[in-house]
Amino acid sequence: MKYYSTNGKSPKVSLKEAVVMGLAPDGGLFMPERIEHFEDSFFYDIRNMSFPEISFEVARKFFGDDIDEGTLKKIVFDTLSFDCPLVRVDDDIYSLELFHGPTLAFKDVGARFMARLLSYFINRNDKVLNVLVATSGDTGSAVANGFLGVEGIHVYVLYPKGRVSKVQESQFTTLGHNITALEIDGNFDDCQRLVKSAFSDAELNSKLDLTSANSINVARFLPQSFYYFNAFARLDEDSSAVLKQPDGKFIISVPSGNFGNLTAGLFAQRMGLPVSRFIAANNENDIVYEYLKTSCYRPRASVRTIANAMDVGNPSNFVRILNLYGNSHEDICRDISGFRYSDDQIRETIGDVYHNYDYITDPHGACAFQALYEYMYSGKYEAISGREHQVGVFLETAHPAKFKDTVEPIIGKGKVPLPSELDVFMKGCRKTEGLPRDYKTFKDYLIWRTF
Ligand SMILES: *Cc1c(COP(=O)(O)O)cnc(C)c1O
Repeated sequence: MKYYSTNGKSPKVSLKEAVVMGLAPDGGLFMPERIEHFEDSFFYDIRNMSFPEISFEVARKFFGDDIDEGTLKKIVFDTLSFDCPLVRVDDDIYSLELFHGPTLAFKDVGARFMARLLSYFINRNDKVLNVLVATSGDTGSAVANGFLGVEGIHVYVLYPKGRVSKVQESQFTTLGHNITALEIDGNFDDCQRLVKSAFSDAELNSKLDLTSANSINVARFLPQSFYYFNAFARLDEDSSAVLKQPDGKFIISVPSGNFGNLTAGLFAQRMGLPVSRFIAANNENDIVYEYLKTSCYRPRASVRTIANAMDVGNPSNFVRILNLYGNSHEDICRDISGFRYSDDQIRETIGDVYHNYDYITDPHGACAFQALYEYMYSGKYEAISGREHQVGVFLETAHPAKFKDTVEPIIGKGKVPLPSELDVFMKGCRKTEGLPRDYKTFKDYLIWRTF
């Protein structure tokens, strides 16, 4: 399968080129040239298949031409060393828990897949491939853990000094081996600027093989469609029966920042997953919400919120959505509805969900829950008679323990269980190298480290 650029000014490339380049030379994002549709029979059997089995079938549709079956199966099964279970929260609302991976956030799925795919592609090459990743917290830990111990690859995680939580920092500074943490004396934008400067530095690129592992990479983004199919497969029987009704509706709510996760859901829908509507849940960074309402897309500087992984002022994957719908606002609105919430509203939802359902949400999942609820019941918490035939799923993208400082003051001290994975990180020995924010020092450092 070939990959084209959303800007349409670069030639089509192979999967390997798309994964190693990350971004197309014309500045566009890569898209697969075809999205293959499943036969109806796939959905009759899906309940009898495991999550990795389902994922392998989805992966074959995208990567089947480029990777032999045995290797692809191994990559998929290794990636999914943890489950993405569906948990029933209310009669017709489920939480798709994407936080059971090593860093307790959904980015583990894409990062682990990408690491394995890259390692497959570079196997026969003896030059080390250097992955540079700038992070404000979660991406760095998912990428670092995804690539940990992968031969032939060295990862540099650049993070802003004093702006990353202790938990997040411990998830990429305690790993060692092929992971180097670089604490930059600056903010996240400085980190991102250093990485971008390195990629566009011809002299540096002639000396070192560099690549990025951010969410625009097709190898991180496409595997995120796997768990949408799993959500459908894991519904309880009565909910599955609801969806078989002629007016049965399947609604999925996605807490969105860069919109990679939601776009992967749209791909799943194009492959035949019977989703009636996607809900894009935003925090106060409501650029896409405004777009859906007005058809004007106006990027702006992000503001800080308690759902900080969604603090994005110019969502990078939005061009993929425009491309998928041929820039038609009308068609986009037929599939996606937008909601936005302030920090106070998100806090209120965390409390409501806990008290009404005994379920703990993190701030991102809470945002998605609230949007789903509002869409399904127009915001009423009372039991509603004569409900439509509808089933809703919201994506719970991070473990609440990662946001303990926000969640516990709302639901009570000591109420958020700390998973053992976090403990291991917290007890590990932190190792990081401090660097100023100027490019020259960063460049010299990379060259010195390599030679
Ligand atoms: C990255 C992230 C998001 C946003 O996902 P996008 O694919 O960027 O829209 C939501 N929640 C959590 C916890 C995240 O880490």
